[in-house]
Order: sequence, then C-alpha cells, then structure tokens
Amino acid sequence: MSSNRVFDCIVIGAGVQGSFTAYHLAKGNKKALLLEQFVLPHSRGSSHGQTRIIRKAYEQDFYTHMMEECYELWSQLEKEAGVELYRKTGLLVMGPEKSENYQQFKTTLQKNKIPTVILTPDNFSKHISNVQLNEGDGAIVDVTAGILYADRALKTVQDQFQMLGGIIRDKEMVTDIKPGPIVTVSTTAHVYQAKSVVITAGPWANRLLIQTGLQLPLQVIKINVCYWKVKVPGSYDLKNHFPCFLLTESEESKEHIYGLPSNEYPEMMKICYHMGSETDPDNRDQQKDRSDIDILQRYIARCLPGLHPEPAVVETCMYTLTPDRHFVLDCHPAYRNIVIGAGFSGHGFKFGPIIGKLLCELSLGKVPSYDLSPFQIKRFQANIKSSL
Ligand SMILES: Cc1cc2nc3c(=O)[nH]c(=O)nc-3n(C[C@H](O)[C@H](O)[C@H](O)COP(=O)(O)OP(=O)(O)OC[C@H]3O[C@@H](n4cnc5c(N)ncnc54)[C@H](O)[C@@H]3O)c2cc1C
Repeated sequence: MSSNRVFDCIVIGAGVQGSFTAYHLAKGNKKALLLEQFVLPHSRGSSHGQTRIIRKAYEQDFYTHMMEECYELWSQLEKEAGVELYRKTGLLVMGPEKSENYQQFKTTLQKNKIPTVILTPDNFSKHISNVQLNEGDGAIVDVTAGILYADRALKTVQDQFQMLGGIIRDKEMVTDIKPGPIVTVSTTAHVYQAKSVVITAGPWANRLLIQTGLQLPLQVIKINVCYWKVKVPGSYDLKNHFPCFLLTESEESKEHIYGLPSNEYPEMMKICYHMGSETDPDNRDQQKDRSDIDILQRYIARCLPGLHPEPAVVETCMYTLTPDRHFVLDCHPAYRNIVIGAGFSGHGFKFGPIIGKLLCELSLGKVPSYDLSPFQIKRFQANIKSSL
C-alpha cells in the first residue's frame, strides 16, 4: 500500500471528540488521519451549534477533577490559535434543596473548593432578575463556568491539527474495519491502514462497532434546541452578566433544564430539556415528538416571566446516551488497538480536550492520565452484544 495511505492512527468521526483526539496525536508527532462521512462543517451530528456550557459543577467528583486540567487545555488552544473560545458567565445551579441530585452538585463544588456563591431565597432576586426560584429550591453559582463557542472551537482544533501536519478527509464514510495488528479501514473512496484506530462516531457508533462484532447499549435521541425571545431587551443578556443556568428537577420534570444567556441570536435565550425521544441518526427529523418543548413552555411560563413562552427558533441536535449517562472511553474488548470514545450522553463537549488526550493515550498503548474505570465497557456486561 502506498505510504500516503498508511498511518500511525486513523480517527473515525470529526466531531469534537475525534477532532481533539487527532489533534493530540499530531501534537505527539504521530501520523494521523481524521475521517468524516459528511462535508465539513456539518450539522448532522452532536457537535454543531454556536454554544455549549462549560462547568465544574457535577454530581460526581471524577468529572470535576477532569475539568481542572480541561480548562487549562481549552486556554492553551485559545493561545495557540489566537482565538477566543471561552466566555466566563458563571452557572446558576438550582434544584430542590433536599434532593439528592442538588446536594451532590453542591457537595462536589464545595469539597473541591470550586469558587461558588450561595444564593438564598431572600437575596436571590437581588443577584438574578427575571427568574422565579421554586419554593424549597436551593441555588448555588459555579463561578468558573461559562460558554464555549462550539462551532468556532471545532474549526479551531481541526485547523490546528492540519497545521501540525494532520490529514482530514471529509465526505469519506467508513464502510469497513478489518481488525488485526495493522487495522484496515475502507471508506467510500479509499482503503487505509494504521497501527491503531479510534472510533468517535457519535450517534453512529454502533453502526461502526458492528463491523468489529460489538454492540454497546447506546440510545440515540433527538434534542429540540429551543431559543426563546425576551420581552424586555437586555433582560437575559450575556452583556448584562446573566449566567448560564441548570435546574436539576422541577415541578414540570425530573430531567435537567438548562439555559444560556442571550448571545448568539440577539434577544433570544437558548433553553433546552436534557432529554428527547429516540431517533435514527440517518432519519433524525422523522422524530417529531415535542413533549420536551411542552415541558419547557410550562416551566418558562411559570419561572422566566421575561420570556415569551413559545420557542421562536427550534434547531436540532442528537445525544448518544449510555444507561448510566457516563462516557465510554476504552479499548475494544477483543482488539486493543481499536479504541472507542462514545456515549457522551449530552455532556461531552466541554471535555473535548481531555477526552482527546485520553483516547490518544489509549491508542498509543499508554497508561491513561486518569482513572478510566467509570468509563469502561465492562460496566455494561449484561447489556453488551458481542459476536466475538
Ligand atoms: C443540544 C445539545 C446541547 C449540548 N450541550 C452541551 C453542553 O452545554 N456542554 C457539554 O459539555 N456538552 C453538551 N452537549 C454534548 C456534546 O455536544 C456532545 O457530547 C459531543 O458533541 C459529542 O461529540 P462526538 O464527537 O462524540 O459526536 P459527533 O459530534 O456526532 O461526531 C461524530 C462524527 O462521526 C462522524 N461519523 C459517523 N459515522 C461515520 C463513518 N462511518 N465514517 C466517517 N465518519 C463518521 C459523524 O458524521 C460525526 O461528524 C450537547 C449536545 C447537544 C445535542
């Protein structure tokens, strides 16, 4: 095979996780190829859109620990590329004070000494205007949190990868993976070989994994990304220091509701429900369920009086959920040189730089920088379908 088709590592899928994996490989002087089925940039997966929330507020310590280094890696990329990717806003976490979920957020923040501000029902409206705090709810602000400019971040990391000598081939769908000491990857255009392969195919992960005899318990859901128009200009604006928010549960729902201050579209706030309905990634828009929008409408009408309780714009994105909502970061159980990054469960963007570093380490057979036991495939045991 000609040497321009042979690589140290091939990364399949140029979403945020694959792009950062390829970038770390190139930084380590590895010859890396990043393959993408669609023409870049595209809006068919999970990494598109202008913004994502970045935060250290988590229910579990291991995510908060990973975010410490991750913030540094984001800032390193900003410096390398001379581009602003992060804007600090703070994240207001609200939820029933006595609930386990809210308490876990609070404990993790406080135990890890993350800068926070606790708001009480008495002083809440002095700090946060136009939001009705539910009776019995606690409120804590993760001061370190903010917004990531997602589309810009994806382009930046892909550009940096190419500047380091990495190769991106878009509009090349991977159609076959032949495991072995050297892995052979066929696409709609060419055949390539590499010492290792990283699969970061987002909602299409199981479509590729089936070629390696593995099926993970992943569920793909469609998310309605809703933008809500403000009634009084400026009232929920980033420029007026309105924070991002996360409501752990409410009268309307058991799942999180989260929002970002108006920024990307003038005078519109992005507020979404952290759940959706199952979909097929190739026929995403055939899923027409709007029950998530109904939940948001009821919540907004009750607690965000400065917004029109009818979405002005609805865009679409997909989550790939695991049963426990934790990621999959592991080697294939039968082929150690096939690495899997999947199931980011609607909260993986902020971790892109650190996930890229970890998947790169796994693909090179190195000991990963973090304890990856929460992310191992063996935790699914009963739910794995394997033909091996
Ligand atoms: C509405 C919404 C809001 C979110 N908010 C946040 C947030 O605030 N904070 C946060 O941290 N995270 C958030 N997330 C989650 C985060 O965006 C995802 O976890 C992350 O983007 C997943 O990236 P990925 O690279 O795994 O998948 P993707 O971005 O889907 O990338 C996978 C890529 O693989 C390609 N591919 C698939 N099959 C093949 C093939 N056979 N050949 C070649 N290429 C292939 C696909 O085309 C795709 O480009 C949100 C997600 C959504 C949808």
